[in-house]
Amino acid sequence: MLSRILVANRGEIALRIIRACRELGIETVAVYSEADCSAPYLRLADEAVCIGPADCNQSYLNIPRIISAAEITNVDAIHPGYGFLAENINFAEICRDCGIGFVGPPVEAMRLLGDKVEARRLARKAKVPVVPGSEGVVPNEAEALKLANQIGYPVIIKAVAGGGGRGMRVVHNDISLRGAFNAARMEAEAAFGEGSVYVEKFIVEPRHVEVQVMADQEGNAIHFYERDCSIQRRHQKMIEESPCPALEDRDRQRLADAAIRLIKEANYVNAATVEFLLDKDKKFYFIEVNTRIQVEHPVTEMVTGHDLIKWQIKIASGHTIRMRQKNIKHQGVAIECRINAEDPANNFSPSPGTITEYVAPGGLGVRVDTHAHQGWTVAPHYDSLIAKLIVHQKTRAEAIATMRRALQEFIIHPIKTTIPACLEILSHNLFVKGKIDTGFIERNF
Ligand code: ADP
Repeated sequence: MLSRILVANRGEIALRIIRACRELGIETVAVYSEADCSAPYLRLADEAVCIGPADCNQSYLNIPRIISAAEITNVDAIHPGYGFLAENINFAEICRDCGIGFVGPPVEAMRLLGDKVEARRLARKAKVPVVPGSEGVVPNEAEALKLANQIGYPVIIKAVAGGGGRGMRVVHNDISLRGAFNAARMEAEAAFGEGSVYVEKFIVEPRHVEVQVMADQEGNAIHFYERDCSIQRRHQKMIEESPCPALEDRDRQRLADAAIRLIKEANYVNAATVEFLLDKDKKFYFIEVNTRIQVEHPVTEMVTGHDLIKWQIKIASGHTIRMRQKNIKHQGVAIECRINAEDPANNFSPSPGTITEYVAPGGLGVRVDTHAHQGWTVAPHYDSLIAKLIVHQKTRAEAIATMRRALQEFIIHPIKTTIPACLEILSHNLFVKGKIDTGFIERNF
């Protein structure tokens, strides 16, 4: 088993990983920027190292500094969490070259799946349905026009290196495609340093359904069922749940089988999420694989009872999966709300600042994953996520009721948060009926 892990992240996910390590008897090294120097979770790590100023490029994204911290503190491995360096191939490669373990997939699998065009190719090979679209990168506007007319509008232009809902443009006709093609390329170039784009059919009012998978070095792979992440704002998830309320067991099985086929085809190791769009006829199409732990992993943990971070660490330690698929059960319904420091009344603009009053909800079926507390200052430099509120109940109706009362209990003052927006969504009759798709927020709010 790994004995000492550096957590190359901050906030709630850093705390989440430190907790898992403690329970496993693994020592941890936390790293922090000057903006996070007073974070109480740092005290829960065995050691904490300052890696630079608040600016991410000089701290959490700074590979030489993180590798130096790992060398100085003599760790066996680095857990990257999500975001920051979690899907940075260069970083994973440097870890490997320095003889530092990486709690994540091998570099080759990361490279293959991190490129969305390559991932689509692999999916076709594994007989996993993909969204109809271009075979590979679309080199120019003329080619994009030709393709769009073949596939039929609306189509979506996507960055090969895309992530976080950025670098995507939906276009409805030749005119809008002409304007959007180069804009998408430039946006992708600016965001990812890689301007290649491809084109696929824009699926109308789909659900976003993703399968949690775990694989070991010997080629064993198991899944932990699916999450429905259809409640999105600008392609960014806001509320997630498991199981997906629209799936019958037979469809659920087909989806999970497809995810496993793809992961095996990629010779994948460790945790992955295989994302699909589910159309109104319950046909599913692969969109991408996320090669890391996801923000929304707790809903899966609640319904399956498995600690996914511990699974990641065990697999990175070389453990073989002995668990049989049939022994992974799911029970009840879990929902997660992302509580962001954003003002819903002001177009979700960031709302950093010091929290002077903080009271977290509790009670049966309530879990709060956060590093926030009274006196904590939400810095403007980072992602606006301050807490994840997760509930678990026997039925979806009960889970919604618990989530609503927990949201009502949650006090975070004076900064603005997404709590009121989540409450409104949870109270909407279509959400209550489970009739949701990725356009739900844009249409209803
Ligand atoms: P990212 O890597 O930026 O998260 P994804 O490929 O995972 O991008 O897509 C994010 C979201 O964008 C999806 O959950 C969905 O809401 C929307 N989306 C992506 N591709 C399509 C498509 N072909 N049709 C309709 N919606 C799409």
